[in-house]
Amino acid sequence: MDASRVSPVNLILLGPPGAGKGTQARMLEDRFGLVQLSTGDLLRAAVAAGTEAGQRAKAVMEAGDLVSDEIVIAILRDRLSQADCAGGVILDGFPRTTVQAEALDALLFDMDQGIRAAISLEVEDQAMVERISGRFTCAGCGEGYHDIHKTPAVAGVCDKCGGTEMTRRADDNAETVASRLSAYHAQTAPLIDYYDGRGVLARVDAMAEIDVVAQELSAVVRQATA
Ligand code: ADP
Ligand code: ZN
Repeated sequence: MDASRVSPVNLILLGPPGAGKGTQARMLEDRFGLVQLSTGDLLRAAVAAGTEAGQRAKAVMEAGDLVSDEIVIAILRDRLSQADCAGGVILDGFPRTTVQAEALDALLFDMDQGIRAAISLEVEDQAMVERISGRFTCAGCGEGYHDIHKTPAVAGVCDKCGGTEMTRRADDNAETVASRLSAYHAQTAPLIDYYDGRGVLARVDAMAEIDVVAQELSAVVRQATA
């Protein structure tokens, strides 16, 4: 039986740091009523809260390396079991290794669910350093901005919530970005083949403007959920 027809729509966004996964995941949340689940955000929250996992993850994240599968899978499992995820999730930044992808398959299988689509945001590495070093986020609502590509209508004021506190991530600097990109190519890029082999892979050109990428991505999601 093909359970994917009746079960929640679970999507994966694949792509290197800076590809726009977070921005597009928020867009998909609004348009399709799914819940964005970012392991980067969950880990940063754990670091800020000073949990044991957070303390172990902090230095690893600052160096641009991957946090251990064990920690990330535990965090993801907890979040996925919460009630608001029952209608479907957009996984942003997870899985990042084959071990994580297999753990996810097992978790979803136990919940009688599956992956409806894994969407690869395809970009060129050279553009990623510029994208990442220009980005900042509203501390109030999490909306993402960029010094060049997406400025708020009024400088310093969030378009979405009117907040005026903007934050930049500690790991969004040129040196760390280089490590994050190489971790992506070594450990995460093989997942493109992994999901292609399962027949759920879609590719979207993510070098275009944010709105253009959003259109193309929405079309892919509509098709995957039809
Ligand atoms: P980006 O995609 O821009 O690198 P994220 O917010 O997704 O940003 O991740 C930031 C950092 O958090 C990563 O560099 C890594 O250290 C850690 N991290 C996030 N998700 C995972 C994961 N699934 N596995 C291992 N480490 C992760
Ligand atoms: Zn805001």
